[in-house]
Amino acid sequence: MICVSGVKLQLPTGPPTYSIYSSIFPLRRGRGLTGLKNLGNTCYMNSILQCLSNTPQLTEYCITDRYKNFISRSNKTNGQVIEEVAALIKELWNGNYKSVASKDLRYVVGQYQKIFRGVDQQDSHEFLTILMDWLHSDLQTLLVQPRTQETISAAEKAWMDFTKYKESVILHLFYGQMKSTVKCVACNKESATYECFSNLSLELPPNANVCYLKQCMDMYFSGERIHGWNCPGCKTKRDAIKKLDISKLPPVLVVHLKRFYADPADTGAYIKKQNYLRFPLENMDMTPYIARAESRSITPKTYNLYGVSNHYGSMESGHYTAFCKSANYGRWFKFDDQTVTALDASAVVSSAAYILFYTWLPPMPVET
Ligand SMILES: [Zn+2]
Repeated sequence: MICVSGVKLQLPTGPPTYSIYSSIFPLRRGRGLTGLKNLGNTCYMNSILQCLSNTPQLTEYCITDRYKNFISRSNKTNGQVIEEVAALIKELWNGNYKSVASKDLRYVVGQYQKIFRGVDQQDSHEFLTILMDWLHSDLQTLLVQPRTQETISAAEKAWMDFTKYKESVILHLFYGQMKSTVKCVACNKESATYECFSNLSLELPPNANVCYLKQCMDMYFSGERIHGWNCPGCKTKRDAIKKLDISKLPPVLVVHLKRFYADPADTGAYIKKQNYLRFPLENMDMTPYIARAESRSITPKTYNLYGVSNHYGSMESGHYTAFCKSANYGRWFKFDDQTVTALDASAVVSSAAYILFYTWLPPMPVET
């Protein structure tokens, strides 16, 4: 078991046994199965919040008040976003309500980002990306010893440049790192840069009604030829191959599917790609996409799905829901605003899938 910032990151040792869990930790009826009221097109928020609430390591961190020891008050959001998210997660897990309203959280996020203030529909991916950044910043108080420059790799140095030697539980759970390599086709000279990510944003293949997540991953990581790269080896402009590889895989891997794109006819509208995407519920293998230098690192490389943010309809007048696998119940549920219903695992894959939450952490029950 690894323990970072007070969170147990247990490496999977075998298939989870729910019967053992539920006999040790008797479950109060309805825990984690509380709906979120719609406050006027807030289904995009609700959908993301339910996926986060079904991330056991994050939920336990909130419910047990451990987050309170790590709040930053001197950052851009003054620790307010984690406080409201934690308060809401507590309400979702106390088993007292059929549904609750996220009014206080919505008020706080609206204060820091205007687009979340009104009653217009917003993009759940944009909300998630901004929320992750705020939550990380609100908890970014774990000091890391700076290491001497000679002993660290370029990837580690880039990670330290990003964190500024201050980490958070959000960083440890959700953030990975991408290596981008540009290689000259004439002399093979390489140049690499690194970037941290809290989710991967994948294109869907064009002209395919049915496609596989693996195709999207293969496209994303396949590399592309670029022209006019200033090669430091040849000292002139050359064609080069630009390729992405993962240099750090996070315990929770969030994958966004780029379903919306601007109308090529320049109408200002967004068009939605309705591809039916097939994606694995278990054992998604990320090994092929890991940078060679990092491939021997010890973290698991296969992931299981536990949350999906779904989008139905068009961008302007659409609706969001979440499908989440409850770690305490060991089965799937549909979270549609205030309504929560059981869902058969066979219904999780649908053409509405928009953001996928994968993890290599075992589905530990939330203990309070
Ligand atoms: Zn060259």
